[in-house]
Amino acid sequence: MTMSARSLAWHLVCRLYAVGYPVKEASLSRNERIGLQRLQQDKAVELAPVRLDYVMCPYCQQLDGPVTLEEGKMVCHCPDCGPVELDDEDKQAWQLKPDWLTRKIRAALNLDGSQQAELAPGIVRLGLFDRHPVVIAPKLITLQTCPDLIERAQVGRCAEPWFFTPRPLKGVDSQVLGRRAYWWSLEERFALFGGGLSFIPPGAEIEELGSEPSGPTHGPFSADFRWVFLEDAPGDPVLLSDAQSAIFKALWYFRGKPETAEVIMTKAGLDSLKPVDIFKVKTSNKGDPRYERPKLAYDTLVQTRRREGLYWLPCAVPQKHANEAIAEAG
Ligand SMILES: [Zn+2]
Repeated sequence: MTMSARSLAWHLVCRLYAVGYPVKEASLSRNERIGLQRLQQDKAVELAPVRLDYVMCPYCQQLDGPVTLEEGKMVCHCPDCGPVELDDEDKQAWQLKPDWLTRKIRAALNLDGSQQAELAPGIVRLGLFDRHPVVIAPKLITLQTCPDLIERAQVGRCAEPWFFTPRPLKGVDSQVLGRRAYWWSLEERFALFGGGLSFIPPGAEIEELGSEPSGPTHGPFSADFRWVFLEDAPGDPVLLSDAQSAIFKALWYFRGKPETAEVIMTKAGLDSLKPVDIFKVKTSNKGDPRYERPKLAYDTLVQTRRREGLYWLPCAVPQKHANEAIAEAG
């Protein structure tokens, strides 16, 4: 299965967090470079200073060699390969922006930060979610070697602590830390959306993520109306629920002609009173881009005349008609 740019980017975030030091651009795989592009757009990563007097040989990636400047070019002198010129990507390394991950997880889970504490070096409790203390760390092994970890994570009479780390290479069970705590991999429990993170509750999956379209088909929408491309993040389409996509599909059907809520809801095959009801963000989902982005799409794309109770989609006006309307207005 081909992974979407958003999954590749999120996996790279987890790797950068696990590694904990800047990763050279030249060492990234082809997939990781796709992810890096997304992270650059989302301003999640920054360039890190790289040591350039002595580097890993760009040719064999086995031995270190001293670097000299020759006719304006940087050359590594590898004991095996001899002189090897450095490319730009050999001189660039990337790291996560400080606090980016904690800020985004706090936002995704709606944590207020009052219970944030460093339990041990690198092991941070971010707050309480649904009475569960939420703790993140770069490595599972660090958790396993920290004494009294579960006691330290607890706050008052809370539920079992939830620990999140990047997925270790070998497979592990959610009860790897014993029966009084849960462990989850960051890769599985969060997804990148619109520059933020969305929490995927245990047991839930977002199966459509793999089939992200490369571009819009009907106006800003994908062919199946499950995705919408917004101008603020054109490379990061918004995933809609079935009901939300039915609303947009119905509005699209009326080609920009104002219709009543009743007509639109009937066309969409939904019971709610008004289209906006389908896009409302529940208090528990505030700050989660998976719910906020569809609402933003609705607010951006749908026009309403509240007094008459009319709704329409200006972008659905057929192009020829739109031009005529502009000509008439002018
Ligand atoms: Zn070499």
